[in-house]
Amino acid sequence: MTGMPIRVAIIGSGPSGFYAADHLLKQESPEISIDMYERLPTPFGLVRGGVAPDHAKIKSVTKLYSRIAQRDRFRYFGNVEFGTDVCRADLSRHYHGIIYAVGAQTDRRLNIPGEDLRNSYAATEFVGWYNGHPDYRHYNFDLSGIRRVAVIGVGNVAMDVARILARTVDELYETDIADYALDALANSHVEEIYVLGRRGPAQAAFSTPEIKELGELADADIVVAREEATLDELSSRQLRESGDRSATRNVKTLQAYVERGITGKSRRIVMRFLVSPTDILGDRRVEAMRMVKNELYLDGRGSLRPRATDQYETLPVDMVFRSVGYHGVPLPDVPFYDAWGTIPNDCGRVLTQHESGEFLIGNYVVGWIKRGPSGIIGTNKPDAVESTKRFLEDLDRGRVLNPVDSSDAAVLALVESRVPAYVTFEDWERLDAIETQRGADCGRSRIKFTSVDDMLLALGKDEPIFNAGD
Ligand code: NAP
Repeated sequence: MTGMPIRVAIIGSGPSGFYAADHLLKQESPEISIDMYERLPTPFGLVRGGVAPDHAKIKSVTKLYSRIAQRDRFRYFGNVEFGTDVCRADLSRHYHGIIYAVGAQTDRRLNIPGEDLRNSYAATEFVGWYNGHPDYRHYNFDLSGIRRVAVIGVGNVAMDVARILARTVDELYETDIADYALDALANSHVEEIYVLGRRGPAQAAFSTPEIKELGELADADIVVAREEATLDELSSRQLRESGDRSATRNVKTLQAYVERGITGKSRRIVMRFLVSPTDILGDRRVEAMRMVKNELYLDGRGSLRPRATDQYETLPVDMVFRSVGYHGVPLPDVPFYDAWGTIPNDCGRVLTQHESGEFLIGNYVVGWIKRGPSGIIGTNKPDAVESTKRFLEDLDRGRVLNPVDSSDAAVLALVESRVPAYVTFEDWERLDAIETQRGADCGRSRIKFTSVDDMLLALGKDEPIFNAGD
């Protein structure tokens, strides 16, 4: 149709979606209109539901995303689920391009015996729960009978989980942690948190500020055994030759903790290296974890990999969190490469199959569902720009979708017909104001809505309930 605006749908409202919107909205010619679809009423993806509540500075990036959302030609359709409320065929009738920015919504498993015992969880479940994510609010993390917890993996999510478990309620009170999580943590009897790396300190995935933060907690000591903080010959050599400054700083930080020792605080975070869990043990619920000691070897690609030795140990623990990475979830009618948990793509252009070379015209991908669950929030900016540039090139060459009607009104009619209780960005700002006010009333940064029903009720968008006699 001539005279119709160029329109792009972005599925997902996390960082990568907003960076993609930003880049497209900045184009002067042609001007591009953006509609962002989000399954939840609330925007910002993992910044709201994943970033730890005590990391307020990281969360403040939402101010930038709100400014992007204020621009002309941007609309937000919250509470609208791709694949359920609107599908790819619907969107292809109204958009020149569809950008998937849905992140990686599930966890990776360890595939060891006992993983499904009671009190064995994915870190992502705990994170979603303490952040008040509607999908996880029903979990019941009763920490009142728990003394020892194991966190498997040494990435930044493991750092978040260990830190939240180790913090005092006073440290967490002012944050936006879900109020039920604050209550559960107030009743926690956790004393020891073991954080378990399958490789050595030089290969740990956490970043230096995160490991340093564990040494600054009000009432928790960090414990590192000297023999595990001391590098083996292969690691020493690799660190020297690679000049990896981040890994060097991590190792120095851990070695400083060895020297500091225990200072008598109520809780202890015990960092362990070169151990892999082999079994989670217990009669219905977690009672212990069996681990094997690893050694490192150089694989054919120059990486130091863990290899099990014949030395085992059993660690008594009451709760286990596996924190070994996220995994993407397929979207209906969108190609998916299960081995990597990503939408197959070439620099952001969706492929019909992994390494097929054939493009799904007009479909693009950004963020974790494009590259896998790696990097920090800022990594999503260049990632999103790469994909949106591919869209602009394709637009230039006429190799995008050919919508029947890309007008504002046509899209609105579609959304209104499917989800009358859709949520606009102005609606979200109202929710935001209510949450912030509820927090201010009791000295907290915000008190979150944690159920979709409550959010819609607060917005006056709840389904009317009719009595049979009405
Ligand atoms: P991650 O950084 O990929 O770390 C995963 C950890 O799990 C690694 O230590 C990995 O060890 C270990 N692991 C994997 N498979 C394992 C197995 N079978 N047995 C034992 N250990 C295993 O993942 P993440 O912590 O989920 O974080 C995801 C992304 O979000 C990362 O890029 C992270 O930096 C980012 N993030 C950032 C922040 C922040 O900036 N504050 C906060 C949270 C998350 P190997 O290295 O040996 O594979």
